[in-house]
Amino acid sequence: MNETYDVAVVGAGIVGLAHAAAAHARGLRTVVVDRADRISGSTARNFGHIGTTMQAGEAGEYARRSRELYLEYAPRAGFWLARRGTLMVATAEDEMQMLREIGDGRLLSEREVTDLAPVAGAVGGALLKDDMQVNPREAAATFAAWLAGEGVAFRWRTSALGAEAGVLHTARGEVRAENVVFCVNYDIDHVLPDVAERHGVERCVLDMMLASGIGLEFPVLTGSSMLRYSAFQQTPTHTELLARFRRERPDMIDFDVNQMYTEAPGTGLFLGDTHRTEPTAVPFQDERAFDLLTREARRLFGLTHIDVRQRWQGIYAKAPADFLREHVADGIWASSVTTGIGMTTGLGLGESVIDQIYGSGRE
Ligand SMILES: Cc1cc2nc3c(=O)[nH]c(=O)nc-3n(C[C@H](O)[C@H](O)[C@H](O)COP(=O)(O)OP(=O)(O)OC[C@H]3O[C@@H](n4cnc5c(N)ncnc54)[C@H](O)[C@@H]3O)c2cc1C
Repeated sequence: MNETYDVAVVGAGIVGLAHAAAAHARGLRTVVVDRADRISGSTARNFGHIGTTMQAGEAGEYARRSRELYLEYAPRAGFWLARRGTLMVATAEDEMQMLREIGDGRLLSEREVTDLAPVAGAVGGALLKDDMQVNPREAAATFAAWLAGEGVAFRWRTSALGAEAGVLHTARGEVRAENVVFCVNYDIDHVLPDVAERHGVERCVLDMMLASGIGLEFPVLTGSSMLRYSAFQQTPTHTELLARFRRERPDMIDFDVNQMYTEAPGTGLFLGDTHRTEPTAVPFQDERAFDLLTREARRLFGLTHIDVRQRWQGIYAKAPADFLREHVADGIWASSVTTGIGMTTGLGLGESVIDQIYGSGRE
């Protein structure tokens, strides 16, 4: 591969594509290298939920910029993007209180919630109108195909082995590039082990399911979701809600469940998910986790049966900080979202890293 580029991005997930799109938008000659033959990492295994409203701090900044970039790219690249917001369902008064405290959505009565989604047992809710949704099976693949059509080179089935100034070493030979950016998610420990160790990167392993659709028009998130996203964690009632879950729902705490649901046209119902953090992803999935997820889905939607079609394991990078961005050595960079919000924040992160490398034209 006797090729020379300005930027070589390793990893064709949403984070790698974000860096490639930002580099290409600056007129830089860009190549994306991925060991797989298609998009099949975390980016293809998630809910496709873009939870802009739920992020605070650095995540909030990337999320807001990502939102603008999704709105720009979706019509140009031709992927489905829903702008209806997130339906937060509260099934207890403390959850309703948190929705009041987050103060960034339209509060809903029980009746208004059931008008929007077929849920049972809600005491109320909120519509977080800035949140969006993509189809995780389609969005990044369509985005990559569009970038390829725009002139970004893609080298699939090509494993990156390491890099030095100006050169990316792959299993198929060298790629010459002024800057190499590793966007390999949790596999950062395979190519840049020192960086992974410095940032404390591990693997967060998740159980997910796809069931027959129930006609859900909004992503539906619940009280367990309020326990985990940064904007909710800042509310006064967060500690109280966590204490109640520990007391009343140790099963949800043990499997670290984020009870949420999305459905895109023609996909069926995505439901999940559980979380377990470990250095290596053990592949054995616990049937009790799936029992819990289906039981909670049946209860929330008042169904006697959930018709499960697929189950899978998803993995994302997990570290004490939400983002890993490092100038590793001359011409070598590492960039990862190190918590489960890469679909929401990845586009903003990618642009910000390319700005750091080449200077922001926006000041
Ligand atoms: C089950 C699940 C549900 C989630 N739900 C949501 C959600 O609804 N909303 C949200 O915002 N976030 C969600 N997330 C998080 C989000 O999916 C991730 O943060 C995001 O997809 C990470 O993107 P990425 O590009 O870093 O990783 P990936 O999509 O995993 O891409 C990394 C790529 O790097 C390639 N690669 C790795 N090593 C090499 C190498 N040595 N050489 C060449 N290529 C290599 C891989 O083949 C892969 O294609 C979820 C995650 C999971 C697992």
